[in-house]
Amino acid sequence: MHPDQEAQAPGASGEGDRVLAMPGLFMDVPLTVGLIAERMRTVNRGGRVVTLLDPETGATSEATYGEVVARAGRLANALARLGVGPGDRVASLAWNNRQHVETYFGVMGMGAVLHTMNLRLHADQLAWTVNHAADRVVIVDASLLDLLVPVLPQLTTVEHVIVVNEPGEAMPGAAPAGALDFEALLAAEAPGFAWPDLDERSAASLCYTSGTTGDPKGVLYSHRAIVLHALAMTGTDQYGLTRDDRALALVPLFHAMAWGMPFVSGLVGNDLVLPGPHLRPDAVAGLIEQERVTWSSGVPTLWTDVLRLVTQRAASESPIDLSTLRMVLCGGTAVPEHLMRQYDELFGVDMVQGWGMTEIFPGATVGRDDPGLPDDERWSRRRAQGRLSPLYEVRLVDFDGTVQPMDGVAVGEIEIRGPVVTGAYFGDPADGPSKFDDGWLRTGDVGTVDEEGWVRITDRAKDAIKSGGEWISSQDLENEIMAHPAVREASVVAIPDERWGERPLAYLAVDSPVSPEEIRAFLTDRVAKWWIPEHYAFIEAIPRTSTGKFDKKVLRGLGHGTGAAPAEAQA
Ligand code: ADP
Repeated sequence: MHPDQEAQAPGASGEGDRVLAMPGLFMDVPLTVGLIAERMRTVNRGGRVVTLLDPETGATSEATYGEVVARAGRLANALARLGVGPGDRVASLAWNNRQHVETYFGVMGMGAVLHTMNLRLHADQLAWTVNHAADRVVIVDASLLDLLVPVLPQLTTVEHVIVVNEPGEAMPGAAPAGALDFEALLAAEAPGFAWPDLDERSAASLCYTSGTTGDPKGVLYSHRAIVLHALAMTGTDQYGLTRDDRALALVPLFHAMAWGMPFVSGLVGNDLVLPGPHLRPDAVAGLIEQERVTWSSGVPTLWTDVLRLVTQRAASESPIDLSTLRMVLCGGTAVPEHLMRQYDELFGVDMVQGWGMTEIFPGATVGRDDPGLPDDERWSRRRAQGRLSPLYEVRLVDFDGTVQPMDGVAVGEIEIRGPVVTGAYFGDPADGPSKFDDGWLRTGDVGTVDEEGWVRITDRAKDAIKSGGEWISSQDLENEIMAHPAVREASVVAIPDERWGERPLAYLAVDSPVSPEEIRAFLTDRVAKWWIPEHYAFIEAIPRTSTGKFDKKVLRGLGHGTGAAPAEAQA
């Protein structure tokens, strides 16, 4: 147990004064990851995990769910032999590949806790998270050894490094002395592992959020939360997967568990296609075509890049065929309407927006399309982040702490609770007061909610721009600017303004020359006049965070646009 964990917020258990007037008589079988693994071993054993090995040749590795779970059992046996037991932390530093999925089920199934290291964190932060988690073992892709080896001297708790190679490949020269070979360990073990009878409240996995300020924060998922989330997301109106789907998981397994894809797929039985380290648009588009992918997930920036590539190649000698793709679950940041429209019109792909965060799992809202609605209403809904998913409750709280009506008009910070929402941060009781509010998690996202649970996020609380006492949504402004055909990417930040308090500054990365005047004219009919930025800065590309979102912290540090806004700005 982490020394600090005992003393953490009661929200993590939340039992309080619950009434048990007459106990029900159904079986108290715990909801654990082992239950999902069991379904993969039996009913869904034919599901396939396909990993892209080489985008040039299209070479892949393939295994059935049955084989993956058998190898997960071997891994659990190997870890037990190394002395790992329930509650111990095991880290993975790996891309989306078959072995990472095996590591998921092996580690969590045996009752240990999988810390999925965010390989895009800065080296010092990476080391900090391993020490904070007190990881005893690190399982690392051979291709990522160059990230791990330099920080090894800083790691105070790691006893074993296990290197993942494709079967038959030799241990790479970069491996540290004493490193163990994943394949050799598995080969020496029997496939069966008696998954222990765990309490469903046991921790299963640990993700650290990128931490835009301060140290990263640990989100410690329980078995129960993982199973409940996966079950909820199997719904037709949620991820909408069927056994016949071939789902490409582009969100990293180290980021909010790839939006829960291994678990949802394990329950549904669809095939799972994994890109390995190959996230370039040509590799992704090629994989969709080659593997006849029907469903995918990912952040809008990636899908923007894929769209550009596929449209560029449409008239060439090597067009890319996306015709098998029917749905993309898109989120992590607001999904521009024009992106959804283009996927819809050009490829017949239903791009569905979802909202969530590491602390609440992704998919807390999902915005399924309703083509039966009048066009206006339909697109107004699709622009929203989506409808609240089962098992979540939200409320809106004004900046002064007053609870707001959920009428689709009142704006406030969205607070959320439910069995799939974290009740505390791992080993960080000090953060309780600022992030938790009377049993609710403060999401830091600002927006509206209507009576039917449609959530519309206008900004992150820290990104909203307050001009002349009124709020400008940087997110809406970005989406409107990006609708201009010359603009590839746009990101809007607040800059101080003597007269109005703050004014928007738009950073633009453009495909063809365009002047600020043209952008202003373009925005005239699209947003309120006083929203239109008078400050523009043109840059090569908008900097992105480790998860592919626009990095406003870096933009703010660039120091553009400090001139005062003209008096008529908000007249
Ligand atoms: P990080 O904090 O590292 O970016 P998360 O993936 O947990 O990691 O980020 C969650 C945040 O991403 C949310 O609080 C929200 O601000 C933003 N977000 C996620 N999905 C959407 C969406 N569809 N629209 C707008 N913002 C989104």
